[in-house]
Amino acid sequence: MTLAYLKDVVTLSLDPEKCIGCGKCTEVCPHRVFTLEDHKARIANKDRCIECGACALNCPAGALDVDPGVGCAAAIVKGWITGEEPSCDCSGDSSGCC
Ligand code: SF4
Ligand code: SF4
Repeated sequence: MTLAYLKDVVTLSLDPEKCIGCGKCTEVCPHRVFTLEDHKARIANKDRCIECGACALNCPAGALDVDPGVGCAAAIVKGWITGEEPSCDCSGDSSGCC
């Protein structure tokens, strides 16, 4: 099953002019929002983004922008559903979460 959230509300944006095609965003995104095509990142499915902020935090070129926050809520909701402890864990350091 592929999860998607509310349509067209995600704050994620990508500046293709700044992208250097390193692929880091494709590695760190937990929801496979990006693809790499012709040495440039592309947002393949914006509505799957949970705004965790990991991509923008790890982009060396400053090509990504997102208002983080919803990812923590998503982790809490997932914890309710699965009965497990929420694993967002972004409160302790600034290395990204989810
Ligand atoms: S991390 Fe940034 S520079 Fe690297 S591919 Fe993704 S958007 Fe481009
Ligand atoms: S904010 Fe998180 S979920 Fe959204 S595109 Fe970036 S890494 Fe993926």
